[in-house]
Amino acid sequence: MPGGGHQLGLPSHLWTQEGKLGTAAQATQRAGRDIITTFATMEKATQHKLRLSERMSHLGTETAFEVLNQARALERQGKDIVHLEIGEPDFDTPKNIIDAAVNALHKGWTHYGPSAGFPDLRRAIAEEVSRSREVAVDSDEVVVVPGGKPIIFFTLLALIDSGDEVIYPNPGFPIYESMIQYLGGKAIPIRLREEKDFGLDVNELASLITDRTKLIILNSPQNPTGGVLGQNDIRDIAEVIGDRNILVLSDEIYSRLIFEGKHHSIMSLAGFKDRTILLDGFSKTYAMTGWRMGYGVMRSDLATHITRLMTNSNSCTASFTQVAGIEALHGDQSSVDQMRREFQRRRDVFVAGLNRIQGFSCRLPKGAFYVFPNITKTGWKSKKLAGALLEEAGVACLSGTAFGDYGEGYLRFSVANSLENLNKALERIERWTKRSL
Ligand code: PMP
Repeated sequence: MPGGGHQLGLPSHLWTQEGKLGTAAQATQRAGRDIITTFATMEKATQHKLRLSERMSHLGTETAFEVLNQARALERQGKDIVHLEIGEPDFDTPKNIIDAAVNALHKGWTHYGPSAGFPDLRRAIAEEVSRSREVAVDSDEVVVVPGGKPIIFFTLLALIDSGDEVIYPNPGFPIYESMIQYLGGKAIPIRLREEKDFGLDVNELASLITDRTKLIILNSPQNPTGGVLGQNDIRDIAEVIGDRNILVLSDEIYSRLIFEGKHHSIMSLAGFKDRTILLDGFSKTYAMTGWRMGYGVMRSDLATHITRLMTNSNSCTASFTQVAGIEALHGDQSSVDQMRREFQRRRDVFVAGLNRIQGFSCRLPKGAFYVFPNITKTGWKSKKLAGALLEEAGVACLSGTAFGDYGEGYLRFSVANSLENLNKALERIERWTKRSL
């Protein structure tokens, strides 16, 4: 059983500035020196105006990391914060995977590897995807990259020209919109509706598709709502797309975190194998967020172009990490099931608790490890409420608007924290609402 319960899976002293490791006291001592160094270098840095490319003004961000930094700053002032803002399992990576990486390091897996990933890992992924998505996948249709995120970046880089339209879920993972806009594409949001259990309305999807639509992004189980697309939803979406030459980026990074029923992928449907870029990885399934390893599965001609992007950017994914990836896929899977059961237990407790708090109403998410309560009855806007909960209640969460405009009226809490901390957060939120609403 992986160890769980510690906040964010990382001792707070490792979060000191600029990644320098040390204790909190050492960090405080260093702060004075850092300020002096900063002033010394600042004068030089400002002598020349920074001439950023125009496209940088279109690049967005992921607010979770900003809120985490704010929360850390409050902690440095001595405040106690319950961290429900960041989306990563609080469990340790299973021991068999760590052992495989350590052995690989000792055995010399410390050199460059092929840009698309080692053949053995690509084969293991192809087998896993063939089995789980019930569709035959070959190794040459797999590209291994450092995390799931690069598949979003590379897919858009490879496909999107200025003015091309990309339909993406909103509220949704903010990197989609950020990257579409960065590349000059036209970001077309499709609203996920609470009354549809945060699924999408296929008639609305049909109305958004035009001759310029090049790509549709799907995400199930979904971040931030926990919504899951069932078999019928996927079939309806496929029907609406029909035989148009539109590709689908199917972000399935939470595919092993489903609480009811089975995971369904559009890649499994007839006619969609070659029109789907499937994104999955190791971060969430095996609690390996910091290892940076994910993959895309796609038609082999596109895979060669994504591989060229890898050659141009990262060269390859870390070699010893990939060896551990093979162990993750082939080894004992019981920790995956244990983690899922634990997330489900926490989800149940947290959602029930939120529903007892004035102004909050929350559906039971069917997958991933987020809950997305409706807070409109509090009378507060999402961003202001998230800020007040952090500053005044000591609970870090994200505003629904961090996931797009249609996230207004919601907050996102990650339940990747211990039951003890989740209960503490519930008590604090309830106390705050009694005081402030
Ligand atoms: N897609 C979604 C929907 C996510 O929530 C995340 C991580 N929060 C990613 C992709 C990226 O995963 P990774 O950390 O493996 O890059």
